[in-house]
Amino acid sequence: MRPGRWGTYPPEHFEDAVCFLCHLPGKKRWQLDQFALVDCPQCGQAFMSPRLNHEGRLNLYGARAYFDSGVYKTAGAKGLQRTWAEGRLDLIDAAVGNGRRHSLYEVGCAYGMFLEAAKARGYAVAGLEFSPVAAGVASERLGTTVHVGEVMDLPPADHDVVAFWDTIEHVPDPHAFMVAAAALIRPGGIVALSCPQFDSLPARLLRTRWWTLKPHKHIWHFTRKDLRRLLADVGLEEVRMVSNPLRAGNRWRLDSLVLLARKPG
Ligand SMILES: [Zn+2]
Repeated sequence: MRPGRWGTYPPEHFEDAVCFLCHLPGKKRWQLDQFALVDCPQCGQAFMSPRLNHEGRLNLYGARAYFDSGVYKTAGAKGLQRTWAEGRLDLIDAAVGNGRRHSLYEVGCAYGMFLEAAKARGYAVAGLEFSPVAAGVASERLGTTVHVGEVMDLPPADHDVVAFWDTIEHVPDPHAFMVAAAALIRPGGIVALSCPQFDSLPARLLRTRWWTLKPHKHIWHFTRKDLRRLLADVGLEEVRMVSNPLRAGNRWRLDSLVLLARKPG
């Protein structure tokens, strides 16, 4: 087999998927090497099927090389990550209101850069990371335990904020993920997330050449409408959606957005 644009994976690392909301198999739009992008015939949600299975994802995200490549590498990229962190914390500060410092839990905290910025602002921070390698580095950096695992395994909690940046597009079941994440905050607490935007101009113009398509990693591709349907389905209220690439929290991200939502109560 010729090497694929997104790597080459053994057949036993693949599985078929259904829409997380409608539980229906999708209709194929694009074949992408070993992957395919399909659309839910009922709600229109775009997703990958076949996709990497649990074993395949473990293999992909357990590798240190994943975090040492791309955006995690250069000084310029790190500077941009800091800009995003501060911009997103400004949005979160505005959403949680009052001067009191809050507790913030990050799901998928990688090397802990965002939690470090939140801690510097006075938030009590904690986090969860799928990759044991990254969790070890984050724990050391923050001087606090970063748990290894998945959000579905966590007991409910009463944090003020739960954040997950560029994570929801990677998880096998976004609905279950959102429900579990929302269970980590108190009523009135804030869910903050970012993800690629499938109805952005680059995504619509570049189609299969869109640089954020990444079918080996990005299982779900959300439009703003898809995200609003997901929020409604899990009982969260939209507070703010930022897709402007000039805003600090989304700086130079031409094809991504930041979303804040509130748990009613
Ligand atoms: Zn659907």
